[in-house]
Amino acid sequence: MCGIIGYLGYREAYHILINGLKKLEYRGYDSSGISIINKNGYSLFKTKGKVNELEKKIYSFKNKLTGTVGIGHTRWATHGEPNDINAHPHVSNSNNLVMIHNGIIENYHAIKIILLKNGYTFNSKTDTEVLVNLIEYIKYENNLSLEEAVRVSLNEIIGAYSIAILEKSNPETIIIAKLGSPLIIGIGKKEFFIASDPIPFINYTKNVIYMKDGEMAILKKNKELDLRKIINNHKLNPIIKRLKINLKEIEKGEYKYFMLKEICEQPKTILDTLRGRLLISKKIICINGIESNKEKFINANSIIIVACGTSWHAGLIGEYLLEKYTRIPVEVEYSSEFRYRNPIIGKKDIVIVISQSGETADTLSALKLAKKKGAFVFGICNVVGSSIARNVNAGVYIHAGPEIGVASTKAFTSQITILTLIALKIGKYKSIISDLSYKEICKELSLIPEKINYVIKYNSSIKKISNLLYYTNNFIYLGRGINFPVALEGALKLKEISYIHAEGFPAAEMKHGPMALIDKNIPVIVISPLKGSYKKMLSNIQEIKARRGKIIALINKDDVQVRMLADHVINIPDTIEELSPLITVIPLQLLAYQIAFLRGKNIDQPRNLAKSVTVE
Ligand code: GLU
Repeated sequence: MCGIIGYLGYREAYHILINGLKKLEYRGYDSSGISIINKNGYSLFKTKGKVNELEKKIYSFKNKLTGTVGIGHTRWATHGEPNDINAHPHVSNSNNLVMIHNGIIENYHAIKIILLKNGYTFNSKTDTEVLVNLIEYIKYENNLSLEEAVRVSLNEIIGAYSIAILEKSNPETIIIAKLGSPLIIGIGKKEFFIASDPIPFINYTKNVIYMKDGEMAILKKNKELDLRKIINNHKLNPIIKRLKINLKEIEKGEYKYFMLKEICEQPKTILDTLRGRLLISKKIICINGIESNKEKFINANSIIIVACGTSWHAGLIGEYLLEKYTRIPVEVEYSSEFRYRNPIIGKKDIVIVISQSGETADTLSALKLAKKKGAFVFGICNVVGSSIARNVNAGVYIHAGPEIGVASTKAFTSQITILTLIALKIGKYKSIISDLSYKEICKELSLIPEKINYVIKYNSSIKKISNLLYYTNNFIYLGRGINFPVALEGALKLKEISYIHAEGFPAAEMKHGPMALIDKNIPVIVISPLKGSYKKMLSNIQEIKARRGKIIALINKDDVQVRMLADHVINIPDTIEELSPLITVIPLQLLAYQIAFLRGKNIDQPRNLAKSVTVE
């Protein structure tokens, strides 16, 4: 996935690059590196581990790292283990070219064989080193300028990339290009910034260009930006947008970790998601993307929700809501599977793609496939202006604000909120939902933020349970109906940040195999609000209890029966069944956080993961 950054202008590049890389670490932190170029050549430092390791390595050399042009990279390894050699930037055989890359060069192996035959050698195991040498080979073989060599080489590439290249003999230029992975240019006065997202440079400029797939740009000192199409070298007119980001939103404030901040923000972020959409006094729901495509939604044959990870869990909840309120058949697919099985979709189907970052590579590819097959594609994203948001036929932003913690929390509840609004809106259009229930759900939805606040505030039982269980190595999460996806999400949160093995099941499935796992040592978290299949859940809990499983139950205040059976309980406020995931997931997020904290894990940067999955 990787984060890439670059600067070209009149300021010293070092601090811009290092501080920028720290802000991009959510994209990967296997290794990092920077290169700064001036008329005497370039200096290059890279190392395994996080950006502070790089800073330590550079510390004694810093005076030599002078220059106003440079590039930096923080890596999430795809090809080659995370070590110093595989870290970016990578250098071409002649030492003339230095390159950083986000993405995967799928045909790197075939290219590597050709280059080997032509005498090239390779230090690293990366696909990136192959690309930088291909550019060099094409440049010298054909006596081309660097920009032309980059362009010709990229036309030979299969895969995804955003790249930035420096040339030793041309120290006032950076060449960049994009296909599939994100790349944004910040335009200052006589200076350019580039990065995988705009956060690293918003202190300097809010004027940005979101590069499109198949575009490259030549950045030169004291020159206008030169934007071109990779395929045919046609010159393009850059479209500059003005960003609206509040810096406070990307700071931790009083919190030790972004994840905790983001969990606690949920009463506010849900309100932000609802703002202007749920007009509670009039009991009206307004969603432009749905209203302007009313007929499409009313007449849809089916809805296919496509997403990955936590967004996929939100999609499963969306399936319950949409089928209940609209009676349109819904399927939920992993983006990575959807695109490789030739799905049956056509003009009367709607594909809803869900992605927090709006950059998830598999979801972006699934979106393109769905469009190609004629489906109407509707997006649910958080990051404004992201690739998915720009590529869908219509869509809606969840407005949850920047989510920095790798484990998604507030985006999940905002995604569910939006899916609820969409289901209600279409259900109303189709007159499937009665006026009475519509009004009741709208009213209850407006009360959810306050109820979440309650769970966050009165969390002493969660702390107590975490203290008792943080050393345990296996957990089971059970839910039924609309709370089954919450069980999956609770288990995923725990896995992601504490590295504990956890699995979520629909409670009734236990007897079809997983029950064999139950013994006195395994904690079983049951999501058991009084509504829905409470009675069935009660029997499932009895079955586990009979096998001496340790029950931790999420229950409502008035629940006497599960309270008596459970070893520990977490009280949750009551709500209507369809909205219960918005409440039941909160204690599970807090439990995962607390356990990971007690295990001393780096909660915002769990091992092997990255926030925005921009490789397939
Ligand atoms: N494929 C490159 C590497 O392994 C870049 C990885 C990425 O963008 O995630 O170094």
